[in-house]
Amino acid sequence: DSLDPRLISIDLSGLSVTPTSTPKPLTPHNELVFGRTFTDHMLSIEWTTQDGWHPPRITPYQNLSLDPATCVFHYAFECFEGMKAYKDKSGDVRLFRPDKNMARMNRSSARIALPTFDSEAMIRLIGQFVKMEERFIPSERGYSLYIRPTMIGTQRTLGVGPPGSALLYVIASPVGPYYPTGFKAISLEATTYAVRAWPGGVGNAKLGANYAPCIVPQMQAATRGLHQNLWIFEEVDQKTGEKLDYLTEVGTMNLFVAIKHQDGTKELVTAPLDGTILEGVTRDSVLALARERLEPQGWQVNERRCTMQEVSAAAAEGRLMEVFGAGTAAVVSPVRAISWRDRMIPCGLADNEEAGPVARQMKDWIEGIQYGDEEHSWSVRI
Ligand code: PMP
Repeated sequence: DSLDPRLISIDLSGLSVTPTSTPKPLTPHNELVFGRTFTDHMLSIEWTTQDGWHPPRITPYQNLSLDPATCVFHYAFECFEGMKAYKDKSGDVRLFRPDKNMARMNRSSARIALPTFDSEAMIRLIGQFVKMEERFIPSERGYSLYIRPTMIGTQRTLGVGPPGSALLYVIASPVGPYYPTGFKAISLEATTYAVRAWPGGVGNAKLGANYAPCIVPQMQAATRGLHQNLWIFEEVDQKTGEKLDYLTEVGTMNLFVAIKHQDGTKELVTAPLDGTILEGVTRDSVLALARERLEPQGWQVNERRCTMQEVSAAAAEGRLMEVFGAGTAAVVSPVRAISWRDRMIPCGLADNEEAGPVARQMKDWIEGIQYGDEEHSWSVRI
């Protein structure tokens, strides 16, 4: 409501399209590496304080030319999104919950004094852009076109202040299945010596500045043979004085834990949206499907704080059913074990098992919707 309409309106009729004269050869499916190859074109919209959003342009994919003093390079005025387009069995192209990504991008950009935009207009523009790149989307199951909307502050100044100009651009990269040979459970290192986000911070915004500091702990985990790190937020319990390690999220995934309680109740838990985790679109989808389809089977589905102490106790008593990450890249990513303060917590999988039943079910349900096998309002034909 507080958005200035002058800033958010994008004139769709002003779209100019310059097709490439040198179409790229398609990379063979099995050679696709995430985020390495890009399509022929890009969508760009410039913004200035004076004129608001300029007419959108689709042009050949090209370098940006920016003055070294441009504010994005110095003060990290950058936010982005990650979403996918899928080809269904009739050859139609579909986006998955693009309204969620655009709403999140508007919240991210507003947080760093970048302009906001009309989500519906952006979805239409992204749809047109993706349509032009249709030949890059393989029809095979598991393949998709990863779409990266990005916004940067482009004002040429070393002064620290709100950027007077910005560029919103969208690029796209064909991607293969995350698990080409079926699920592979990963192991996590619970990071307790560093924090990713804190109350009142910007952990819930998709800012580039949130990602660079995550690489060193990630590399540290890798030196110990662990695939990714799990961000812990340590807090002292006011009543008992005990230090508690709260689970937050993984590098690019939210985290779900399935626990059987002593009374036999089964609970699917994920961290609440308290500002310290990204509001994942996949997280929201898992929660909605779990509430719709698992609760009638007796499951409890809760967004609540959960500690490693609780997870470790459940594991010790054989009540930890499964743990999985949820994000756009893999949909779900089963977790075999969590290394936590010199202990290895097994997460409910048998040695010969790569995923638990809830993770498998969620992947099937969500992919079924993404690829249009199940008609659902989340899947938007373009
Ligand atoms: N957390 C972080 C930090 C992420 O970067 C991502 C990926 N966007 C997610 C969670 C999962 O979000 P989504 O389901 O929207 O991909």
